Amino acid sequence: MRFNRILLKLSGESLMGEQGYGIDVKRLNEYAEQIKEAASMGVQIGIVIGGGNIFRGLTGAGKGFDRVKGDQMGMCATVINSLALSSALGAIGQKNRVMTAIRMEPIGEFYNKWKAIEAMQQGEVVIFSAGTGSPYFTTDTGSSLRGIEIEADVMLKGTRVDGIYTADPEKDKTATKFHDITYSEVIARGLKVMDITATAMCMQNDLPIYVFNMDIVGNLKRVLSGEDIGTLVHN
Ligand code: UDP
Repeated sequence: MRFNRILLKLSGESLMGEQGYGIDVKRLNEYAEQIKEAASMGVQIGIVIGGGNIFRGLTGAGKGFDRVKGDQMGMCATVINSLALSSALGAIGQKNRVMTAIRMEPIGEFYNKWKAIEAMQQGEVVIFSAGTGSPYFTTDTGSSLRGIEIEADVMLKGTRVDGIYTADPEKDKTATKFHDITYSEVIARGLKVMDITATAMCMQNDLPIYVFNMDIVGNLKRVLSGEDIGTLVHN
């Protein structure tokens, strides 16, 4: 696999590292270093980062929050994480910008496909925050949408597991890893790779997803160098 442009999806949950909540600075800086390394390979990079380390609308609704307001809180959480990543990238000299799906200048620039592509072509990392801008979606859907829009060659889903398994490997020791799998099989088997909406969007628009462990420093570069360390989802 050779990629010219990628959409990297990072989960908010991973960003909290060993802590139970918020942003682990060590993990944040490791992500920034890996992203800078990837950019120096000449790959154009768009990033979507989740907000689960701060707030999730669905969890909030379970505690009595209004669902739409809860989702809006979740989208704001992704903006917080995006700003943190932007700051960490800036600190190590990696040019980048934050775009927001909801207008909130001067915190971030309002999302625009063509401006994003232009920035990426000039070596800037573009962070797409606030998901899709709409409630009832997730940042998985946000990354499918942005990945398709910016015409990325692949969505790299950085997780804390090294690929897709037949069952949750953290719970089931007999689980085995897929080298590659089709979108329809992911959906049919109910595998929790991404939510169905996000998976279906990738399927319909032919955006391959590559799931790998981003928490091991150096892995992003390994994937971009063609090392087969994760699972590929395709049609
Ligand atoms: N969210 C939303 N619309 C979007 C993206 C995100 O409403 O387009 C909200 C939703 O409440 C979600 C929260 O933001 O629970 C955080 O995103 P997500 O759960 O995807 O974060 P992750 O699990 O990747 O950390």
